[in-house]
Amino acid sequence: MNLWFAKAVVLIAFIATILIRAPHGKRSREVKVAKSRKGPVEVFLLTIAWIAFFLPIFWIATPWLAFADFPLYSFPLVTGSLLLVLGLWLFHRSHADLGTNWSVTLEIRDSHRLVTTGLYRHVRHPMYSALVLYGLGQMVTVPNWVVGPSYVVAMLLMCALRLGPEEKLMRDEFNGEYEAYASRTKRLVPGLW
Ligand code: SAH
Repeated sequence: MNLWFAKAVVLIAFIATILIRAPHGKRSREVKVAKSRKGPVEVFLLTIAWIAFFLPIFWIATPWLAFADFPLYSFPLVTGSLLLVLGLWLFHRSHADLGTNWSVTLEIRDSHRLVTTGLYRHVRHPMYSALVLYGLGQMVTVPNWVVGPSYVVAMLLMCALRLGPEEKLMRDEFNGEYEAYASRTKRLVPGLW
């Protein structure tokens, strides 16, 4: 199968991610940051996430990563596309639920409210679950050993290094309210973990 089918799918998914985030990003930036815990680990994670996010565009627009291409088949293309759609839908829903409490890094905004409804009723980090699913979708869709797994690796690294500090930030801010919330929810996978 022509690789351009996979390239078209990831390009559409890339644009959809930007379109979903843009209005929420704009709205959040209008709310003042009250507390920031953006240390060196956060800078590292954000850099890796940005590189991984733009890698498919380099793959599409240049021949530099073609050395790692392998043949494309219809089953992974369809399965991966479905995972991308599921990831994007959860990404959209979690942004809608979190509203202006969203930040790209570890921050508390003015009048920050603990969100425990919508997707947040089921897991504490639905946006990261969405991004891991998106990354899995990219891994299955993209027939390239470098570009395919890049985003899921970046997002798993993000989960490994950020969940602890983010939950500490939430505990420090919301104390017992967060304890109670954490005791009745899982982190990323409903009912499991
Ligand atoms: N980890 C969450 C949110 C990602 S955005 C998710 O995956 O869905 C990161 C910011 O969201 C953090 O800086 C934190 O301030 C904020 N945040 C995380 N969980 C929250 C919650 N339940 N309610 C309100 N804000 C939250």
